[in-house]
Amino acid sequence: MEKSFPQRAKPARPEAPPWPTSELTQEEKHLVSASTRARCLLCPSPRLRPLILLARDNPVSYVYSHDAIFACDDCQGGYAEKRRRDSFDWEEVHDQDEHHPLDAASIAQLRQCLTGCPSPTSELCQC
Ligand SMILES: [Zn+2]
Repeated sequence: MEKSFPQRAKPARPEAPPWPTSELTQEEKHLVSASTRARCLLCPSPRLRPLILLARDNPVSYVYSHDAIFACDDCQGGYAEKRRRDSFDWEEVHDQDEHHPLDAASIAQLRQCLTGCPSPTSELCQC
């Protein structure tokens, strides 16, 4: 006799919010300017938008770091950035940055996950 398992309804996944078309806030502009990249990692677009700030240390110091994900307004892909900058010795700047590309599907999935976060570009958000 064959066992039959009850079919479970697949829970509906929340839709990602519509792609933002608004101007960047001052905080978002600051984050984009703190990135080492002036252009998307997947296409030549300069239209970058911070999606989430995971960590940041010393925003106004010579020794600065952040872990953030940026999304591209044109290809809707993006990249994860681990930024480590040490310019304490002003004659020699030490940058140790890492970038990892994220395709449009990954960015869309991340945006879906962030729908409940009130402040994804603040490292202080506790949600
Ligand atoms: Zn792009």
